[in-house]
Amino acid sequence: MSEIKIVRNTAPKQKPDENNLVFGKYFTDHMFEMDWNQQQGWHDARIVPYGPLELSPACTCLHYGQETFEGMKAYRNPHGEIYLFRPMENFKRLNRSNERLCIPQIDEEFALKALLELIKMDKDWVPHTEGTSLYIRPFVIGTEPSLGAHSSSEYKFLIIMCPVGAYYATGLNPVSIFVENEYVRAVRGGMGFAKTGGNYAASLKAQDVAAEEGFSQVLWLDGVERKYIEEVGAMNVFFVLGDEVVTPALQGSILPGITRKSVIELLSSWGYKVSERRLSVDELLEAYKKGNFTEMFGSGTAAVISPVGLLRYKDIDMKLSDGKIGELSQRLYDELTGIQWGKCPDPFGWTMKVE
Ligand SMILES: *Cc1c(COP(=O)(O)O)cnc(C)c1O
Repeated sequence: MSEIKIVRNTAPKQKPDENNLVFGKYFTDHMFEMDWNQQQGWHDARIVPYGPLELSPACTCLHYGQETFEGMKAYRNPHGEIYLFRPMENFKRLNRSNERLCIPQIDEEFALKALLELIKMDKDWVPHTEGTSLYIRPFVIGTEPSLGAHSSSEYKFLIIMCPVGAYYATGLNPVSIFVENEYVRAVRGGMGFAKTGGNYAASLKAQDVAAEEGFSQVLWLDGVERKYIEEVGAMNVFFVLGDEVVTPALQGSILPGITRKSVIELLSSWGYKVSERRLSVDELLEAYKKGNFTEMFGSGTAAVISPVGLLRYKDIDMKLSDGKIGELSQRLYDELTGIQWGKCPDPFGWTMKVE
């Protein structure tokens, strides 16, 4: 399969105000779509006007949650050129999620080619304002019209895109995080490492409770002993403990973030001691008491680096970096966003030119 059919949108929308972009609300004029069935495999690759899908109310994804997704961004550099950040990592991860969810593999090179074409068609939607970008959401859904509880015999792969603003309207502000010790998000052997809607459905309850108490996110503990740190909402987490930077090891229940991977590679290149290992809440509390736990931040495509100013476990408040942005958080944020927006050199070859 190599041809991508193109149906142009004859009624392009007015673009939203770049200074007031709400995350995930305004979609570009086109989307990519292709279908899978047993006879033809992936077929009918097409770029079509963005719009509603026609699906059977019985289709698998609606009842049994058979879906996977990705999240990535396209950025404009100071010359107005458009770049992606490590896009093949996203398509490789999509296939690892697909494997877990019994969804057929996608040709990663072809998916990238489709994405590049889609961005070129909607290039005027990549915003120019400082701090903005084009958020890209590839996803796959099971579409077999059947209530049989088995993997679907039909699928759709789509890519939709939306211009998004700076994640922090008021700058890089530290967030407050609540250590969740009742609900769990994922267990080893489950789907924690896959980017799939079900993981988010499982986390809404705790998220709502924490929000009521004024916390922006919850920090998940392992699903078995509720003792070891896993990750936050849609971000991986890092802790500065003395001269060591620690992030939980990937053991199947944590999403292997591409920002996480980039942070580890950057820190190592700067000569930091970075450990991917098990980290218990008790160890954190101990380190905090000794004054050895000084900084914490989250990493993810949406916010890039999200400094944490307050971490609450039961009734213990750990205040970090004086409620300000930690030194390392700031340095990582500047370096990563510098590479993404083409303001700094890209020694790792992470960016890819779209046009
Ligand atoms: C997407 C996601 C992340 C961050 O991954 P990035 O590739 O860095 O954007 C972390 N945790 C969860 C649960 C996620 O879904």
